[in-house]
Amino acid sequence: MTQQTYAEFHARSLAERDAFWAEQARRIDWQTPPQQICDASNPPFARWFVGGTTNLCHNAVDRHAAARPDGRALIWVSTEVGKEVVYSFAQLQAEVEAMAAILQAQGVGQGDRVLIYMPMIPEAAFAMLACARIGAIHSVVFGGFASVSLASRIEDAAPKLVVSADAGSRVGKVLPYKPLLDEAISLSAHKPAGVLMVDRGLAPFARVAGRDLDYAELRSQHWGRRVPCVWLESNTTSYTLYTSGTTGKPKGVQRDVGGYAVALATSMDYIFGGKPGETYFSSSDIGWVVGHSYIVYGPLLQGMATLMYEGTPVNPDAAVLWRLVEKYQVTVMFSAPTAVRVLKKHDAALLKRHDLASLRALFLAGEPLDEPTARWIADGLGVPIIDNYWQTETGWPLLTVANHIPGVAPVPTRFGSPGMPMYGYDVKLLDENSGEELTEPDRKGVLVIGHPLPPGCLQTVWGDDARFVNTYWKSVPGREVYSTFDWGLRDADGYTFILGRTDDVINVAGHRLGTREIEECISGHAAVAEVAVVGVADALKGQVAIAFAVLRDPVQASPALEGEIMKHVDAQLGAVARPARVHFVTLLPKTRSGKLLRRALQAVAEGRDPGDLTTLDDPTALAQVKTLLQK
Ligand code: ATP
Ligand code: MG
Repeated sequence: MTQQTYAEFHARSLAERDAFWAEQARRIDWQTPPQQICDASNPPFARWFVGGTTNLCHNAVDRHAAARPDGRALIWVSTEVGKEVVYSFAQLQAEVEAMAAILQAQGVGQGDRVLIYMPMIPEAAFAMLACARIGAIHSVVFGGFASVSLASRIEDAAPKLVVSADAGSRVGKVLPYKPLLDEAISLSAHKPAGVLMVDRGLAPFARVAGRDLDYAELRSQHWGRRVPCVWLESNTTSYTLYTSGTTGKPKGVQRDVGGYAVALATSMDYIFGGKPGETYFSSSDIGWVVGHSYIVYGPLLQGMATLMYEGTPVNPDAAVLWRLVEKYQVTVMFSAPTAVRVLKKHDAALLKRHDLASLRALFLAGEPLDEPTARWIADGLGVPIIDNYWQTETGWPLLTVANHIPGVAPVPTRFGSPGMPMYGYDVKLLDENSGEELTEPDRKGVLVIGHPLPPGCLQTVWGDDARFVNTYWKSVPGREVYSTFDWGLRDADGYTFILGRTDDVINVAGHRLGTREIEECISGHAAVAEVAVVGVADALKGQVAIAFAVLRDPVQASPALEGEIMKHVDAQLGAVARPARVHFVTLLPKTRSGKLLRRALQAVAEGRDPGDLTTLDDPTALAQVKTLLQK
């Protein structure tokens, strides 16, 4: 049989756009079939599967419960409280219907917002699916956010109801949520009418009379009640979700119903190669887009069991993830480079302690996957490591290798590159000043997407169409294209490399350097576990690069090693890229989703106020840098 190349397949997805997506739309159940595949008549907006009515919960839960009621749907593992629970599709549907009945009894209906502020417990997934079932819009806020960040999200989403829990837990330490939630509600101008509390018995809390509701009590009251799925026009809003806030104020990404379902179902097949009845394990959190797309919706749409994990990759030991892969026969796994870097500080032999025969691939996304880290985990696990690049905004991978498309030749992975533009995405590299398209290989440009964005991507910014248009579509002069705000480069074979964010470029004596390139080079030094490079104002050169490195073994920190790392950069990138200083730290400032907060490092290094730090994970990281620089 002659095989198509991936490039041909991709080209067809754009040239025959509507035919391509009409085929994909058959993957899901529609109550009324779409009348128009794509309405692109009002750029930069796009509407997918116009006139079709469907429901995410029906497609993720009910249709599988009807066909395979006893099939595994949700596996919950908590190493924090020492529990493992398996829900079949029939059990999941019963839980979701009970939750939906509770929401309805509180007056929540189609279009109403429900804010979910929860740890990684099954009730969080029940609440998301219950909203999808009745057409309410969920807004999941990461359970680690403190009251100020939470308050701004409550104000933005204006929820009728908040679903929360008494506490989360991290490495055995109980983190009470309720006091943070109460404070956030008091700070917010918007007051939700009700707060539905899941009481895990971890942290006693005060109840506000007339507002707070007890989940266990209401669940038993509503148990067994049938709540039919509400058929929603494809372009109805399903949820809103905030970006990670790495570069500034988080944006409320708004997603549809039908386009999202089709995009995820297609990706489960073509990109992840997951099959119904198998188990998918994403170690992310439901508070992030990966958790929405690949803990809750994607695997369930595909009829797979999804493993939801409350715990860290290193507790009780650094083999815990692999123990779960073995025990639950995970076939597809999804994690982040930051988790791998954490594992890298432990013995590589732990990667081999468990039988990983079921595992076909490990997908990693969220930040650049440096080659040394990729090689370390690939050697240790012996399965393909597949980098994939996307954004909260896109909802599913934009660059990766899609190696499960029937009749299409697989694309080998290439270290350092997430891969190629996915079908449906009209990806271009543009010159940042002229807006001209860069077609020759190895030229660095802004990575953009042409209109219309494919199904599954954001519809707009919640409540702010102007911000959607002005932020994303007006940044390259003379071109109405969606900017990712990331630098990219395409090699002669079509692999795209991500060279960092467009605002992470530094200018040393007239040379424009991507901090990412310098980081990649330094992390290639054997002593270094992790590194961040920022540009710091310099009277003479405009800017100089400063590196903050975490060593594999902190006792190695010495002026000699600093000199050695500088020489390493000289040899690989040239003296212009050499950092003026390499500081050794034990921790780097990161967002709660594990992304480096370079803007905060830069501000501190320049003695400025680091600005909005609501998404910062561990404040001691910045404190350490401050003390270091004062010396
Ligand atoms: P904000 O938009 O609020 O500043 P954010 O961009 O960090 O936050 P996300 O949507 O979570 O929020 O992250 C998407 C970004 O993460 C991408 O634009 C890119 O910079 C980075 N990224 C994601 N995956 C990869 C990857 N595989 N390789 C390199 N970078 C990646
Ligand atoms: Mg972003």
